[in-house]
Amino acid sequence: MLVDSFGRRIDYLRLSVTDRCDLRCTYCMPPEFKDYEDPAHRMTLEETARIAQVFVGLGVHRVRLTGGEPLLRARFGDLVRMLGQIDGLHDLSLSTNGTQLARYAGTLRASGVTRLNVSLDTLSRGRFVELAKRDALPEVLAGLEAAKREGFDLIKINMVWIPEINGDELHPMVDYCRSQGFVLRLIENMPMGDAARKLGSRSLQPVIDDLRQRHGLIDKVIPGGGPARYLASRDGQFTIGFITPVSQHFCDTCNRVRVSVSGTLHLCLGQEQNLELLPMLRGGASNDDLAVAIRDAVARKPWQHDFNARPEKMIRIMSSTGG
Ligand code: SAM
Ligand code: SF4
Repeated sequence: MLVDSFGRRIDYLRLSVTDRCDLRCTYCMPPEFKDYEDPAHRMTLEETARIAQVFVGLGVHRVRLTGGEPLLRARFGDLVRMLGQIDGLHDLSLSTNGTQLARYAGTLRASGVTRLNVSLDTLSRGRFVELAKRDALPEVLAGLEAAKREGFDLIKINMVWIPEINGDELHPMVDYCRSQGFVLRLIENMPMGDAARKLGSRSLQPVIDDLRQRHGLIDKVIPGGGPARYLASRDGQFTIGFITPVSQHFCDTCNRVRVSVSGTLHLCLGQEQNLELLPMLRGGASNDDLAVAIRDAVARKPWQHDFNARPEKMIRIMSSTGG
């Protein structure tokens, strides 16, 4: 079991398979961003699967693949198949921007991925271009249709809440998700890197109050729901979650760590403490050696992020951390 020095049990890993992306979401990657990891310093798929195996051996039963855009990684399907064979890995999920989802939905479902998080901040094609700097909304919507046909247990739509940009899209997005059977999740913008910081972060609390009243929503608990707080319609047909890392952080219940594509174990999204796993992977370390190092590192997991006290602190952007 992995437990940090504050007694928090770590049973969830976010594993990044690439730092590359085909979009440039304003809050995530600067439009001109090219500072990608040197390919020689990217974990191979076999190294990635080995890291997952070691974490599962340490009691981590849930792994979410992320990036950058994970579906851009060559042989991504092979990785999912490798991970699908790890005994003890009960929950394999994926975060994606959806642009390649139509192509991959079948493989993902067949390999044991049961839950998808798809980022979608707008339903307007023009605004999508403004926000993500690419004209890809039709592909994302087609990807979501394909995923729905494949019958995933749960499809969540992640919408980063920047009211100046997409505030007027809240109700259309609620209607869309309700009609499609998707769970909508609103996320406060976190000050990860200059671009995100410049946008600022707005509390979701007024939105929560408004939605609760307008739609008569009631509190709902979702098993494995992580840090999101959920509301649902009384008929149970619609659920909406709120992730409030800035206005009301949930660090005391944090259960996760992240590994970037370069094999850096990030102990906290909003702090710098880490452990470099790639030199160990390539330097002959056994799985036991890796497990000991990971256990020691987790003992150093910081208590909380500094998004409010020192928003200027994080220069690392989400796509290279593995969001
Ligand atoms: N490319 C995939 C995607 O967009 O879902 C996976 C990686 S992306 C970094 C993972 C999640 O991080 C997305 O839901 C995205 O909206 C979120 N994200 C990125 N930058 C963020 C920020 N500054 N604040 C809050 N969420 C952010
Ligand atoms: Fe790419 Fe996801 Fe970041 Fe958008 S949020 S730029 S899709 S990694």
